[in-house]
Amino acid sequence: SQIDPHLFVIFGATGDLTKRKLIPALYHLMQDEDVARRCVVLGAARSDWTDERFREAARTALREQGYAEETVDAWCTRNLHYQCLGPEGNDYEGLRERVEQLERHRNLTGNRVFYFSLPPSIYTQAIEGLGAVGLNTSSGWSRVVVEKPFGHDLDSAQRLNERVHQHFDEDQVYRIDHYLGKETVQNLMAFRFGNALFESMWNREHIDRVEITVAEPLGVGGRAGYYDQSGHVRDMVQNHLTQLLSLVAMEPPASMDADAIRDEKVKVLNAVQQPDPRADVALGQYRAGTMGGEPVPGYRDEPDVPADSDTETFAAMRLNVANWRWQGVPFFLRTGKRLPRKLTQIAVRFQSAPVSLFQADGGPCVPRDADCEAAPNELLITLQPDEGFDLRFEVKAPGNSDDGSMPLETQQLSFSYQDAFGPVPDAYETLLRDIIVGDPTLFVRADEVEASWQLYTPLLETDLPVHSYEAGTWGPDAVDRLLPTWTSTGRTRSHRAEATSS
Ligand code: NAP
Repeated sequence: SQIDPHLFVIFGATGDLTKRKLIPALYHLMQDEDVARRCVVLGAARSDWTDERFREAARTALREQGYAEETVDAWCTRNLHYQCLGPEGNDYEGLRERVEQLERHRNLTGNRVFYFSLPPSIYTQAIEGLGAVGLNTSSGWSRVVVEKPFGHDLDSAQRLNERVHQHFDEDQVYRIDHYLGKETVQNLMAFRFGNALFESMWNREHIDRVEITVAEPLGVGGRAGYYDQSGHVRDMVQNHLTQLLSLVAMEPPASMDADAIRDEKVKVLNAVQQPDPRADVALGQYRAGTMGGEPVPGYRDEPDVPADSDTETFAAMRLNVANWRWQGVPFFLRTGKRLPRKLTQIAVRFQSAPVSLFQADGGPCVPRDADCEAAPNELLITLQPDEGFDLRFEVKAPGNSDDGSMPLETQQLSFSYQDAFGPVPDAYETLLRDIIVGDPTLFVRADEVEASWQLYTPLLETDLPVHSYEAGTWGPDAVDRLLPTWTSTGRTRSHRAEATSS
């Protein structure tokens, strides 16, 4: 797509996200000389940095990620600039002057990206600051990019949307959920709507249940200040897991147009029933345990976490999508910190064969009878690590069983993204390119973010028990109440192959 010459302004240029994600993604994008000539970056924050200090921070960040020194130096010098917003972070007049000066010097035509890599409490101030000095209008296009979290409940998200819309139209707003930039998440749409094979079975007639797991082995790390206020439902469920749910459950869009896709996502979110907090939800908080053979502290012993915190670091829930396609098919969501391993996986379990012929007494018997076992087919869509698909099915194992029945064994067909296509691009690189070319498909629309908060706000307002679980386990026992046997046990692809062939 066409890349217009533009100024890419990063608010929060001295922060963690800029260093770890935005600078490397911009650098990578600008290996394309066409992009490099047309994109000038202006970092902004309260710290009293100079252009040179910002460049040095960027060089260090890029070197840490293994990029070669000469090209990094040249890029930083040519493409990076910095503007201090003053000790209160409110010198928007100074910012406007610098923006206009850079545009004159670099022959830019007034196209601008304003990326808010800021604490969420500052979003409103930044929006109003831009509006107050007229930086929301220009002779070219202007786009504002807002990081997650967008609000902390329905009311705050609605208020933030109102503020944003006072200064920017909705088609200028790009709300980030970086999960949507992952190739494998986008591939969900290709998989569903490019293949008649699965789509014809993608409904309540054939699917028994869907499980979505986002597990991380890490603890809260240095984010306790933000995390302890927000908890895992806000940090992960409302955004990432809900995005995965809507891509799995949505109807086919009329076209691949951004709004056609987002219309379908909103429609399916509106069909999800609010979970009954007491019956459909289990929350947990990790206590001390062992990860990879090493002892790790409990959540309450982490730096900056209050000793009596009851913030949840784990959430599991059962959701019902009340529409013609899905009514009665439970969607189970499970996510937490200090779980045994990193895993993002969607497990689709198909209904069992109507009768099983392979019993010791020669069958047939009907699945779900107490002693009649028929392994259902499963489709595992793994988003990380080791992106790919596995389709599990039954085959006859060689030979005969001692009891005379035909021995069955679960095997799988597997597709690995890495094996087929090589390394998967970073999500931020995909998203930054889309912002620059003006494609909003992978960004969350105002009504979408509100529909998601609407779903979870009653749960967030209910005082629920937070069950303790040992670090390094799959969450509190209360999860079994929702679903005793999760398909995704957290094995990686190679482990899965071993497990199924053993
Ligand atoms: P961070 O390290 O705390 O950085 C925040 C940045 O905002 C700093 O550059 C800070 O610089 C600047 N800032 C703070 N108050 C300001 C003010 N009043 N006016 C202007 N600038 C101000 O936070 P982060 O981890 O980079 O996260 C930034 C945003 O991205 C947050 O919304 C976060 O939720 C989101 N996010 C981060 C990650 C991640 O991996 N880090 C992942 C997903 C989403 P000064 O102190 O110099 O002003």
